[in-house]
Amino acid sequence: MTNQQLWQAVLGEMELVLSKANFTTWFKGTFIAENNEEKMIIGVPNAFTKNWLEKKYNNYILKSLQNITERRIRHIEYHVNPKIKEDVVIKTTEEVVVSLPEQLPSKDTCVKEEELFCESEKLKKNGLNPRYRFDNFVVGNGNELAHAAAQAIVQKPGTSYNPFFLYGGVGLGKTHLIQALGNEINKKYPDLKVLYVTCEQFTNEFIEEVRKGTVKKLKDTYRTVDLLIIDDIQFIAGKEQTQEEFFHTFNELHQKNKQIILSSDRPPKAIPALEKRLISRFEWGMIADISNPDLETRIAILEKKCAERKFDLNREIIEYVAMNIKNNIRELEGALNRIIAYSQLRKIEPTLENIKIWLTSLAAKPLASSLTPKQLINIVASYYDVSFEDLIGISRKSELVLPRQITMYLLREDLKISYPHIGQELGGRDHTTAMHACTKIIREIEANEKVRNDVESLKQRIYSQSEA
Ligand code: ADP
Ligand code: MG
Repeated sequence: MTNQQLWQAVLGEMELVLSKANFTTWFKGTFIAENNEEKMIIGVPNAFTKNWLEKKYNNYILKSLQNITERRIRHIEYHVNPKIKEDVVIKTTEEVVVSLPEQLPSKDTCVKEEELFCESEKLKKNGLNPRYRFDNFVVGNGNELAHAAAQAIVQKPGTSYNPFFLYGGVGLGKTHLIQALGNEINKKYPDLKVLYVTCEQFTNEFIEEVRKGTVKKLKDTYRTVDLLIIDDIQFIAGKEQTQEEFFHTFNELHQKNKQIILSSDRPPKAIPALEKRLISRFEWGMIADISNPDLETRIAILEKKCAERKFDLNREIIEYVAMNIKNNIRELEGALNRIIAYSQLRKIEPTLENIKIWLTSLAAKPLASSLTPKQLINIVASYYDVSFEDLIGISRKSELVLPRQITMYLLREDLKISYPHIGQELGGRDHTTAMHACTKIIREIEANEKVRNDVESLKQRIYSQSEA
């Protein structure tokens, strides 16, 4: 196993525990600089990263290295090495997989590289990633309607369902589906101008242009496209100026019958602090949701992904993985990535016995968050659009009780604080109340899809804020 392969496998593990943004921020430009019996040195691009990795992720990195190498590495050193070459820049597991079959004869390789270059140039321009396509999107009971609507839009962009508003929990395929739509339209109508951005990008660009006094540039970009896709639009909540700008963009595009596609972690009405006029516009066209895939679909997804990666897993193993990883498709994919990395790097047969061990010993436990309890409570309060005081207060209204119990669960699960401490933070409640809340939410996560999605979305916010 080369150092690069080893580090790639470690990154694959880290990718599962961190949000994409944080993963990129903290692991970009890292590599194994030295790896021998005595020492493991990780090269990092700057002191800031060094500090952060030492403080926050060292244990995870260490554990992951130990697991993969099966060596008892005791200690890792992080050395600042600013002279890293561009080609050791990290890749996500998916990107590695995509680039693996590129080992072709040299002439072909050149062509491929050129193509890849064109692809990445395009990617920068219209935001679309060619990895997300309809032909690798598995249709099952949780996403049938959304998929059908997407197909209808491909037939007649801008007319049938405008806007198309797609919502659902984390890791269920929203980005994949709306990107596939963009790619398909791009292919079918090469003259149409397609633009995909995340809500965050849109907001940041807007703020930047306002600061520079060049908002017109932004208008020129966004109001002249034929298909505008904005991912995770829920993050526009509370950003009044951005909402105002988006409102006008929306109107102009809609009037010209230009297709608008939005995704969100919840339906328009449930996005807090969203202007009424925007809610009503989001509801003009087609609203579709994506929900958790059932067992059959999870099996189909695993089979498809195995085939794509030319990796053989027998049916018994696929069923085992599909039965045990139920939360979302991203985790399902993560488990498969892990299995592939382990069997290829360690050259061990992926038997059911081995896989059971790999999946449990490495169960991606999120890192304990570094938020304070108050910060976490605030995140839950703003998610449910209730006040901090009401959330920790005494009212037994149903719209407060569940969020309150979820708060207690998250304090326990993600901040690892004691039950009595949780009771105190929640307005001086008894520790048994906190224990009861946690048990209840654990049960609800199993039984109730909405609770499961809420908890997932909240965790994402908690981790993105605590690592920021
Ligand atoms: P979301 O945007 O809803 O959080 P993503 O679109 O990022 O979720 O999906 C998470 C991962 O799961 C991606 O790698 C995606 O390709 C994969 N995925 C999701 N749904 C499907 C599906 N129906 N078929 C195949 N892969 C899927
Ligand atoms: Mg997404």
